[in-house]
Amino acid sequence: MNSEKIDLKSLTQPQLEHFLADLGKEKYRAKQILRWIYQRGATDFDQMTDLAKQFRAQLQERAFISSLEPEAAEQSSDGTRKYLFRLDDGETVEAVRIPMEEQRATLCISTQVGCAMGCAFCMTGTFGLVRNLSPAEIVNQVCAALVDGPINNVVLMGMGEPLHNLDNVVAALEILYLDDGLGYGTRRVTLSTCGLVPEIRELSKRIKVQLAVSLNATSDETRAGLMPINRRYPLSELIAACRDYARDSKQRVTFEYILIGGVNDTPADAKRLVKLLHGVRCKVNLIAYNEHEGSPFKAPEESAIKNFQEYLLQRDIVATLRASKGRDISAACGQLKGKLEKPKR
Ligand code: SF4
Repeated sequence: MNSEKIDLKSLTQPQLEHFLADLGKEKYRAKQILRWIYQRGATDFDQMTDLAKQFRAQLQERAFISSLEPEAAEQSSDGTRKYLFRLDDGETVEAVRIPMEEQRATLCISTQVGCAMGCAFCMTGTFGLVRNLSPAEIVNQVCAALVDGPINNVVLMGMGEPLHNLDNVVAALEILYLDDGLGYGTRRVTLSTCGLVPEIRELSKRIKVQLAVSLNATSDETRAGLMPINRRYPLSELIAACRDYARDSKQRVTFEYILIGGVNDTPADAKRLVKLLHGVRCKVNLIAYNEHEGSPFKAPEESAIKNFQEYLLQRDIVATLRASKGRDISAACGQLKGKLEKPKR
């Protein structure tokens, strides 16, 4: 029904201004409409009572406002809330709201259905890529979760590799940043990648966003075993791209490091990690692998976690240990998805 119409949720501000100019409308109308859509949650042009009736009818004819409603939502005892969204073509993606201290919340959203990257610790990867999400499908996960209360930070760390869907992700970020829309500042949005080096470099030219890199190993051999992308872009190239990203964006890069028992949690790993990150403005997020039924890896020993973190801290590397929140969201890119239900296909 909507195939001929334009989804206003998929437009950046210049695109919306352009669309309105075609209707003979002034630029400032874009701001008015953005406020209705994102700040007041309008999904119908009739709700936009300060627009002339004729203008609303014009919009009705040429455009629509998409939305997502969770088909299911699950809440853990610590307040973590997982949303399942069914898309127009029947595919599903998930988003997770993670409560933080002082009434704050972070939302983790998806950027693709499935993923082509095949990381060993991630179930999403084993199904391959089904398709990219559109900018509106990415933004609508945030709009839907906002119904349950404010979201302070957004992380692109759900299903999919954001940089493998670069154009749509950049458009979605532009929409999330709109002053008259949701108004997320660039410091409140984090994009997590498994390490697509040319796209990391391209990203820094196109838009500002906090960068997180799923690192998880300190040698090419171990990393390639966990993350096939390392065969294409080895650690030396990845770290060089991160060093440049931090320099050009004037932001620290976050390295996510899932500690896996006996695989990447030894003192030798900690030592190699310090060497690897030398001169990179960064911080390290350590996450203890969460062993679950049928998982291919083991959780690290408590002592290994402690020693690893201390080794980094003593060498002036900011290293935080991410606390487990909710059964489904205890880790970085991958482990979250590793716990997603097996899609029915
Ligand atoms: S961990 Fe992230 S990049 Fe790797 S396969 Fe899973 S979704 Fe893709």
